[in-house]
Amino acid sequence: MRPAGFAAAVAPAGRCPFGPPGSPRPGSPYTRVRLCSPSLFSPALTRTPPAAASSGRRTWPWLASSEGGTGVTRSDPLNMTLFGPPGSGKGTQAGFLVEHFGIPQVSTGDLFRGEIKAGTELGQKVKTYLDRGDLVPDDITLKVVRRRLARPDAGRGALFDGFPRTVGQAAELDRMLDQMGRRMDRVLFVQVPREVLVSRMAGRLTCPRCGRTYHPELAPPRSGGLCDVDGAELVMRDDDRPETARRRITVYLEQTLPVLAHYRQQHVVSDIDGTGSIEEVRGRILRAIDGRRRGDGS
Ligand code: ADP
Ligand code: ADP
Repeated sequence: MRPAGFAAAVAPAGRCPFGPPGSPRPGSPYTRVRLCSPSLFSPALTRTPPAAASSGRRTWPWLASSEGGTGVTRSDPLNMTLFGPPGSGKGTQAGFLVEHFGIPQVSTGDLFRGEIKAGTELGQKVKTYLDRGDLVPDDITLKVVRRRLARPDAGRGALFDGFPRTVGQAAELDRMLDQMGRRMDRVLFVQVPREVLVSRMAGRLTCPRCGRTYHPELAPPRSGGLCDVDGAELVMRDDDRPETARRRITVYLEQTLPVLAHYRQQHVVSDIDGTGSIEEVRGRILRAIDGRRRGDGS
């Protein structure tokens, strides 16, 4: 179902809702955007920022009792995955969940874009895949994730976003977590109809510094085209152009959706309706996680 008020943000087929984009920046995964109408960011449309973090809430004993697992105690790391097609709102919801649970976000897309921006050898290798909307090969992706999990903050656990994306990555992640004495605690499967995905991606504005995403109507930044968090100029991702966005959805259906069966076998999947407002989706996610506390199914 299309969220209320969504149509206004949708550009005519194949056209950027912000007017003609600027020329792509060499070696960058982003295109600078010139906002076509400042009224898109009028105060009337400005949303309340996510609720302040309820800090210190890092206890999740329900994950042990309801799953019949090996026993998760109050201090155990929490490992969750936001799973869903591109544009379903994973990154948006991750921003809130990492604060709420006090665990770092591990977004392979953000890690790859960071490498490209920094001009590293790895960045050069992965750029062609991102440009085409294809998946980066598993060996490179797993190397990046392994390196990220070795950082101290991942000792508290991780909120994976956009990972794993193939059955091979999921199997290897199981092994990695097992070696660390952990397991995947919850997979949050965010479902959104295809036509809504393309429209959301066409309107997505990304902060090249912190990775936070916005939408001119549905999640507008507080001031013009600048990030609320760090004031960086927001940009449009090159791979959010409609033709690449469609390719990414096809890749998701063919190569990523099968990962769900892997986790369904482990009984850790919660199905989340990703339509409606950001706050509504957030509420559903928190209720799904709370549902596990009561051990009442997904
Ligand atoms: P979205 O959030 O819109 O789904 P991402 O930022 O997660 O997009 O990913 C952007 C691109 O980065 C993907 O199209 C793909 O090329 C690459 N990528 C990200 N995560 C992975 C992954 N786990 N495996 C392979 N490629 C990935
Ligand atoms: P993903 O990480 O799954 O690719 P994002 O979180 O980046 O998706 O969201 C894609 C776009 O949709 C962004 O412009 C974001 O502001 C917007 N968006 C996210 N959640 C919602 C929602 N519930 N309703 C409308 N727009 C949303």
